[in-house]
Amino acid sequence: MAETVKVLVRCRPMNSREKGLNCEVVVFMDPSVMQVSISNPADKNTPPKEFTFDGVYYLDSITENIYKDMAYPLVEGSLEGYNGTIFAYGQTGCGKSFTMQGIPDPPTQVGLIPRAFEHIFDVTATAEDTKYLVHGSYLEIYNEEIRDLLGADSKKKLDLKEHPEKGVYVQDLTKHPVANTRECEKLMEKGWKNRSTGATLMNKDSSRSHSIFTIFIEMITPSKKPGAKDNIRAGKLNLVDLAGSERQGKTGATGERLKEATKINLSLSALGNVISALVDGKSKHIPYRDSKLTRLLQDSLGGNTKTMMVACLSPADNNYDETLSTLRYANRAKQIKNKPKINEDPKDTLLREYAAEIKKLKEQLETAGGPAQVKVQKGLSWEPFVDEEAIQREREKLKGEYEAQMKQMKKDLEKQKAASGGGPPSKKELEAQAAKIRKEFEERERKMREELEAQKTMMSGGAIPENVDPEVYEKLRALQTQIVGGEQANDKQAVMKRKKANEEVQRRRKEIAAAIGRSLAEDEEDDEILVKAYDDVQKTLNARTALAKKMKAKLRSQEQDLRDIQREFAVERDDYLETIRRQDQSLRLLQQLLDRVQPTIRKDCNYADIEAIKKQAIWDEIEQKWKLPDLALVKTKLPPPLLGFGAPTTSTKYTPPSGVDWAQEETHISNRLERGAEENIAGQYFKPTNNRQAEIMFKTQLQAEQVAKRNQGFMDPAAYWTKSAPPSPTGSNHGFQPGGMGMGMGRGFGSAKPGRLAPFGAKKNVMDSL
Ligand code: ADP
Ligand code: MG
Repeated sequence: MAETVKVLVRCRPMNSREKGLNCEVVVFMDPSVMQVSISNPADKNTPPKEFTFDGVYYLDSITENIYKDMAYPLVEGSLEGYNGTIFAYGQTGCGKSFTMQGIPDPPTQVGLIPRAFEHIFDVTATAEDTKYLVHGSYLEIYNEEIRDLLGADSKKKLDLKEHPEKGVYVQDLTKHPVANTRECEKLMEKGWKNRSTGATLMNKDSSRSHSIFTIFIEMITPSKKPGAKDNIRAGKLNLVDLAGSERQGKTGATGERLKEATKINLSLSALGNVISALVDGKSKHIPYRDSKLTRLLQDSLGGNTKTMMVACLSPADNNYDETLSTLRYANRAKQIKNKPKINEDPKDTLLREYAAEIKKLKEQLETAGGPAQVKVQKGLSWEPFVDEEAIQREREKLKGEYEAQMKQMKKDLEKQKAASGGGPPSKKELEAQAAKIRKEFEERERKMREELEAQKTMMSGGAIPENVDPEVYEKLRALQTQIVGGEQANDKQAVMKRKKANEEVQRRRKEIAAAIGRSLAEDEEDDEILVKAYDDVQKTLNARTALAKKMKAKLRSQEQDLRDIQREFAVERDDYLETIRRQDQSLRLLQQLLDRVQPTIRKDCNYADIEAIKKQAIWDEIEQKWKLPDLALVKTKLPPPLLGFGAPTTSTKYTPPSGVDWAQEETHISNRLERGAEENIAGQYFKPTNNRQAEIMFKTQLQAEQVAKRNQGFMDPAAYWTKSAPPSPTGSNHGFQPGGMGMGMGRGFGSAKPGRLAPFGAKKNVMDSL
């Protein structure tokens, strides 16, 4: 069944800074109708703007109540196999972390996250027939990079992956087993310290990162009917502390800061866009893929999750713009519809893996030995118990033995008596013997029980029993400690505590439902009906005038709204443009770096031709990165030695490749030799041997041409050459200047005849070799 995202707003008290500035309170709340109103400090004439939410919590509200009213049902859901998400949204310093993490003292202000931990383990402890496996993970998104706050290296960037069944997940994110509230708290504390918000970094950074603590809960209810399938479900609870929603200050990004090119918090903007797309009802495309955060929380927005959002506000007039923007954001979010569903029979559950492992280990233990009467329970529970049936059988056996012995004793006594000539044994004699046997058997039974009890204690706790493989035993015990459930199922006090909590929540929910009902009734109050109720013309007129006035005020307020929204859009657009500019700058930086580096790439490497590589690159939508061709070296095939330089000598026993016309080859060579005599010998000598050289020469030649052209205007080339070197009598410059190549480069290869430059025949050769 579809349900909307539950949105509540919480307004913190004024802080000392706001008090110091003599700020005015502009936010008001009426919990009896779940309403928030905010008045514009710059325009006292417009009526305050009003919003209605699923919950409103004013200055002195306590987190305990927020939990009971809104978070409790969500956490219960995750313990039934639903996914749940709690977001905290709002301007920095307005109480997101105060609400999510909270403070230990006073206890009413313990945060939603530790409360969720306690709730979860209260439920598992009193569960009668369900076992749970709970894991926690904690990540941070900062500058669109995901980091594991509980991993071995909290600096390592992690990738998002998509699995056809499991959906989007973070690759290599560590999941830590937790078996009680304290262990959860320890994880939270450890991760909190690892945030890039840590003490060493400025608070500004802390306000730019998002953190997600996720609790994974797997549960199994073993089937009561033999052979039937066990019921396995998997719930998940995301506890999200978002980055500050305020627009980041316009700090000039230079040097180091340039790396943080995105002034816009991409994930936060994307979240807003996803919400807008979801609620406008027209968008077919929901832009989840635009950021890491929206991809990770895709299910929580318009998906299968029960979602709740806490919008945190400041009451002060100097935060009016931000507060109004938060209220608008929250107002939009409350229209998102989700379709929560239980994750039944999920694939790849750790619990299933554990269950199989436990079963195997138990079998190993049982076949390994231990008294037959001590068994481990079926299913996942490890508790060893005394098998009463086996004991009964043992007792029967003992009884049989006892009876047989008594009979035997009687017979023996009779025989003895007969042998000694006495009469049948007296009752006293018989009784004395029987008492002896009974005592012996009682002793045996007592010993048997004692032994069983001793074994039982050993198996469940302390020492490893004899005949049992210690490795198997320890493994089983380790696995077993991670599986929780039913520890206090028989503890009346614990069960009562839970029952009371449930009742309290129910009671509060009823109150909330009544308040929402009142608020709806107020909304739907039809003024026209009021007007019609008057039969007197004058009264009707008065009522209509009042109504018209009210409508006018409403219109004015909506016009103001429109202007505000337009202004917000304009600011946002500026931010986007600024971000684009910054990104463009860093793109140019990369391009320039590439231009510098590219010529140094070996020419036989496929990456030497960047344009070709660009064409081959394919964008991978799922991985969100480019797939590039592998780095490869292209081997140039050289012609076989000697080919084209005369017939092979007999000594090498060279056989020409079939199809070579030796006669033609010879003509070709002799033609080339003749041409060589005419042409530039030195040019041939310095003929570039590879593309790189060719390129350099080509460039140098072009430069030379330019120099020559420039010189043409004010200097007689003939005069120039007489100064430096005599021009070639034929007019064609051989480029072989006295002084040699190395020194002559700068001046020796211009031609006296502009436009016909052929130093070392380079141009032609370059063209050939390119
Ligand atoms: P955020 O995480 O949104 O940046 P914080 O939760 O760190 O803001 O809150 C900033 C300051 O305000 C903290 O000192 C916090 O204790 C205080 N604060 C926030 N909300 C409340 C509240 N509802 N009642 C009392 N103090 C609060
Ligand atoms: Mg915070």
